[in-house]
Amino acid sequence: MATAVPTVKLLINGALVESRTEHWSDVVNPATQEVIARVPHATPDEMAQAAAAAKAAFQTWRKTPIGARARIFLKYQALIREHMAELAALLTAEQGKTLADAEGDIFRGLEVVEHAANIGQLQMGELASNVAGGVDTYTVHQPLGVCAGITPFNFPAMIPLWMFPMAIACGNTFILKPSEQDPMVTMRLAELALQAGIPPGVLNVVHGGADVVNAICDHPDIKAVSFVGSTTVGTHVYQRASLAGKRAQCMMGAKNHAIVLPDAHREQTLNNLAGAAFGAAGQRCMALSVVILVGEAQQWLPELVKKAQTLKISAGAEPGADIGPLISRKAKARVQQLIGQGIEEGAKLELDGRGPVVPGYENGNFVGPTVFSGVTREMAVYKEEIFGPVLCVMHAASLKEAIAIINANPNGNGTALFTQSGAAARTFEEDVDAGQVGINVPIPVPVPLFSFTGSRGSKLGDLGPYGKQVVAFYTQTKTITARWFDDAAVTAGVNTTISL
Ligand code: NAD
Repeated sequence: MATAVPTVKLLINGALVESRTEHWSDVVNPATQEVIARVPHATPDEMAQAAAAAKAAFQTWRKTPIGARARIFLKYQALIREHMAELAALLTAEQGKTLADAEGDIFRGLEVVEHAANIGQLQMGELASNVAGGVDTYTVHQPLGVCAGITPFNFPAMIPLWMFPMAIACGNTFILKPSEQDPMVTMRLAELALQAGIPPGVLNVVHGGADVVNAICDHPDIKAVSFVGSTTVGTHVYQRASLAGKRAQCMMGAKNHAIVLPDAHREQTLNNLAGAAFGAAGQRCMALSVVILVGEAQQWLPELVKKAQTLKISAGAEPGADIGPLISRKAKARVQQLIGQGIEEGAKLELDGRGPVVPGYENGNFVGPTVFSGVTREMAVYKEEIFGPVLCVMHAASLKEAIAIINANPNGNGTALFTQSGAAARTFEEDVDAGQVGINVPIPVPVPLFSFTGSRGSKLGDLGPYGKQVVAFYTQTKTITARWFDDAAVTAGVNTTISL
């Protein structure tokens, strides 16, 4: 007898509930095509219930002492560590990345949870005494109310953990809308958050696609929306949420370039480039998808291709796998189509990763490492965010020319320079227009002492996720000016001037 496919639950007011919707999607293991769960597209009524629960819970959560909020996140980080292997296995099954990479995905989110446990210090205000005689001014950073988060498929642990721990630690309540392609690890993380002591209604999870996202943008009780995903959807979310009077922060698409100068450490640079271009099958917003070889460094191309050929393509759960499958059949078809278009448009295919045969996983959505040289700015492989293991190699005569190529690209997410010259590194960090800048660091995602950021087409909204910036995003600054009278200080008569 066939076993029933499990359903993914909604989390509303502290309870895991079965959706009453008639609209469901399959969660598919991308290495095998096995349907491992069914995820609901929440009804408008369920969305309204989540918002009502979050609004009601805010009344007590906003006054919960800092220490009580912080201690929940101390417990939460311990629970995530305890369940690391289980969480990574679930993540790999639904997303496809290797187990080691899945642990990395969880770990980078765990670091934000650890930071949330520090919320007392992060949320402190400022005070200046005697701004006028006997008058003090101080600021407090108060929670906003109900906040919401919409997350992409490629980091189903890290990105939800960028959002709800910091929002909740600041005293807000939260509605999360995970990617419908891989919501299971996110749900397991939500369950562990309840176990850590997050009270009913403080964290709610609804599932679905465009309709649920639009309902979040429009809902009058939601005060702030955090989004991570593609540029098209992020721009829509930013505009729609802003129109409804909400704060919005949208971290979006990318086309990240590396520049390699001939004085770079050769072996280290080539290893870093191969890892950052093809790791996670290129499905990272910080993947290095374009490399600009400057001057003599052009001769390193054959060696880079050789490195790419050594990577093992297999299901993420297989020992020794370097590159897992793409998220869906549709994603695989799109990436292969773009490779075809690259050839048609005249790029030189140095390594063709289309249609690899992976023993035991013949149905998986695999595309192997692919390298194009002679890429120009007019080609689709350069203009599109491919989001697959495809590296475009370009050439430039100088660092200045390479920086100009990067700054002319519409995206500004991440970039990296490989060199041993401090002067070149300094010019690069000053002149390049991107959010995350690596110097001999291929994927410079900031730790939560800082905030993630982005420039130009990669970001809308001025404050980034996690770190200090997100405390400003998830709080309202209130500035209080106070005078306490004692009899000696009381002045006679009415003062109609502006002075204190
Ligand atoms: P996506 O934009 O397709 O989906 C993101 C979220 O939006 C999902 O929850 C999805 O359900 C929802 N959504 C999809 N279509 C929608 C629509 N028409 N209207 C409203 N909501 C909709 O992104 P994805 O494919 O899941 O993720 C990959 C993208 O995310 C890439 O572009 C990648 O660069 C980007 N990304 C950016 C960062 C960053 O920090 N800048 C980090 C990770 C991923």
